[in-house]
Amino acid sequence: MADKPQIRIGNYILGETLGTGTFGKVKIGIHSLTGHKVAVKVLNREKIKSLDVVGKIRREIQNMKLFRHPHIIKLYQVISTPTDIFMVMEYVGGGELFDYIIKHGKLKESEARKFFQQIISGVDYCHRHMIVHRDLKPENLLFDKYQNVKIADFGLSNMMTDGEFLKTSCGSPNYAAPEVISGKLYAGPEVDVWSCGIILYALLCGTLPFDDEHVPTLFRKIKSGIFSVPDHMNKKVVNLIRHMLQVDPMKRATIKNVREHEWFQVDLPEYLFPSAGDVDASVVDTDAIREVCEKCSVSEEDVHSALLSADPQDQLVIAYNLVVDNKRIADETAKIEIRDFFLASSPPTESFMMNHHQNFGLGPRSHPDRMNDPHVTTTLDPIVEKKGMHVKKAKWHLGIRSQSKPMDIMHEVYRAMKSLGYDWKTVNNFHIRARKKNPINDKYIKMSLQLYQVDQKNYLLDFKSLDTQDHPDAARVKKMTQAASMHWSMSTDDVIDLDKANIEDKEYGEEASTNQNHQILEFFEMCCSLICTLARN
Ligand code: ADP
Ligand code: MG
Repeated sequence: MADKPQIRIGNYILGETLGTGTFGKVKIGIHSLTGHKVAVKVLNREKIKSLDVVGKIRREIQNMKLFRHPHIIKLYQVISTPTDIFMVMEYVGGGELFDYIIKHGKLKESEARKFFQQIISGVDYCHRHMIVHRDLKPENLLFDKYQNVKIADFGLSNMMTDGEFLKTSCGSPNYAAPEVISGKLYAGPEVDVWSCGIILYALLCGTLPFDDEHVPTLFRKIKSGIFSVPDHMNKKVVNLIRHMLQVDPMKRATIKNVREHEWFQVDLPEYLFPSAGDVDASVVDTDAIREVCEKCSVSEEDVHSALLSADPQDQLVIAYNLVVDNKRIADETAKIEIRDFFLASSPPTESFMMNHHQNFGLGPRSHPDRMNDPHVTTTLDPIVEKKGMHVKKAKWHLGIRSQSKPMDIMHEVYRAMKSLGYDWKTVNNFHIRARKKNPINDKYIKMSLQLYQVDQKNYLLDFKSLDTQDHPDAARVKKMTQAASMHWSMSTDDVIDLDKANIEDKEYGEEASTNQNHQILEFFEMCCSLICTLARN
């Protein structure tokens, strides 16, 4: 039997179908060299011929590439061929919320609230950037492997008129607002609020508020807005759902109302709604303008006149705002110091890793984007700046293959430490303190592991020696550790870069020096076993 021809999208080879939705099939794409996975939505041009995928629409999709939110599936790239349009997206492997509800039935209130808060955060973000989803339903809500919600399909339903949309929508209309099924012309953010109300009800009850096999009857039920409320439901959340499921869009809750609701506020992670910061909107950011020109292939004049028009719906204005927003977040990230202190059980369990990841980004003043960009901040101490990725004269090179996502790197590190029987403390998501007992003298060899982001692609895992327990002269050792640093760098060419310690112990006495050298040796041994274990995995 002849093998099926492989379809390639850039360096990605298309594989099995992950799902079929309103607009076509979504397939997995696997990077031919690294094995990195993406999801690729294949839109057949023939099928979407009626859609205006030119001009405004194309720009809208371009803008979606600028969207950055931890609970929205990222769009990496859009590739057009004469027959198809391929949307290359972030892959998430945790399945659909839909299946989760079917499997578990109604959820615990706290769990439902957590998912709902994440959904509202993503929806709010999109609304602020002028995109209405219009097709929110559990099939479009996916989970990553840590069971965080990721909203799929944002923006696509905006490509058609409501009539067309309803015709093509293969899903059930159970989540559609009354004005949508009545074919009213305008559908703004309020239709998403309605759908979120239905989703919240489904999360808490395991059933739908409006349901009927017979579509005209279903429509009648939706338009009546009357639904039953099970006794077990918390009165506060019932009040919220009733407000979200107001038939009259004018009386319906806004996202702001939802955010301010007391039930919603319980255990609300700060990162979901970061404050806008103190950006002076009247100052035009020329760098941002240049970036928009590049991304949208337009001239600076075009962007200036769009900004002068002050039309919030203008795609160039939206692009500009997204770029400014992303820049602000990047700046903020660079300023933030990590203050979280997590104490890990040692050795941590798989569930610790999960919880840990969920805490990722939930610390003080943390921002969603930092869920994807490592929180590696300003703590780059001089030694790293000196020796970082720019080191020319590295003593050793050791090849290693590994995934470059920061959380994956850390996961590997935990696995290696576990298999080596280390104890450890987690200072924060990217900073660990590890120790190992020397069976001969019963002393601990301690090291600190900190992940740094050097640039877009490169991460550096910095190994630093820490004071040995009961060391006679801790201060001296501390000074020494400044010099005794070793770097495991994960660059694009997967090279490990070990920098030989430069120990200046001239000013110390003979004995201290021997002690220090001994400690350095032990520290290096510890680094070596860790690196070897990492390299094997
Ligand atoms: P459509 O726009 O056609 O409705 P969706 O984006 O909703 O397509 O995707 C259809 C199905 O494909 C989803 O319900 C999900 O099961 C799967 N899917 C979509 N995007 C991803 C992704 N990024 N990662 C994993 N599975 C996905
Ligand atoms: Mg879909």
